[in-house]
Amino acid sequence: MKHTQSNSRRKFIKNTAAGTALLSLGLASLEGFAKTGNEDRHLSPLIGFDQQPLPYAYNALEDVIDAMTMEIHYSKHAAAYSKNLKEAAKAEGIESTRPLEQVLQEISRYSMKLRNNAGGHYNHEFFWQCMQPKTKDNAPTGSLLTAIEKSYGSFAAFKEKFADAAKNRFGSGWAWLYIDSYKGMKLGSTPNQDNPLMDIAEIKGTPLLAIDVWEHAYYLKYQNKRADYIDNWWNLVNWNFVQQRFDKI
Ligand code: MN
Repeated sequence: MKHTQSNSRRKFIKNTAAGTALLSLGLASLEGFAKTGNEDRHLSPLIGFDQQPLPYAYNALEDVIDAMTMEIHYSKHAAAYSKNLKEAAKAEGIESTRPLEQVLQEISRYSMKLRNNAGGHYNHEFFWQCMQPKTKDNAPTGSLLTAIEKSYGSFAAFKEKFADAAKNRFGSGWAWLYIDSYKGMKLGSTPNQDNPLMDIAEIKGTPLLAIDVWEHAYYLKYQNKRADYIDNWWNLVNWNFVQQRFDKI
């Protein structure tokens, strides 16, 4: 049964525009797609419609992000995106077994409710994985560091540019490090719950790293000081996760 599903998934990927786009982004080597399971989903770029357990406790990111912020963010804001995504997907005839990445790549076909909630759910599931408890001397290494240095001169210069994108996003949104369709390393920001996977986005590519700059992500501790939140957030970045995504593209 499982085998049959994999085969039909393969056919689906091969025979649709979304599948072609997915392949061109390097997201779905067919083997990797078939093997994706819950046990290694934290390594996988494929995100489903259900909210997954937070990979750490609410208080694990203290003193950068306080437990109360994490609890409200995960159990209220993010949970609602998943719930509303499933509701909108059902109403618009999208099977909940479809990889969310494919839906995002053709998001212009669907309603604003679907766009906001598919983006909201994807972005948060991705964001949780971009973080880990604070570590000393937190920085990328290896091929990822080399690519960052090649693109931005130095890790410090990269951080500054990424932080500028996050600070200068007016209102609510996200800043991203991503790989574009020419395999170039890029950074930028998106409004609301948009992301670079969406066909309507101003920046397009495969996300490597994201920061949530909606006020709900930092307001209890930092109030209007978004820049302080971003400065401290670097201590939480899970560079292993970013490296694993980088290796797959
Ligand atoms: Mn958020």
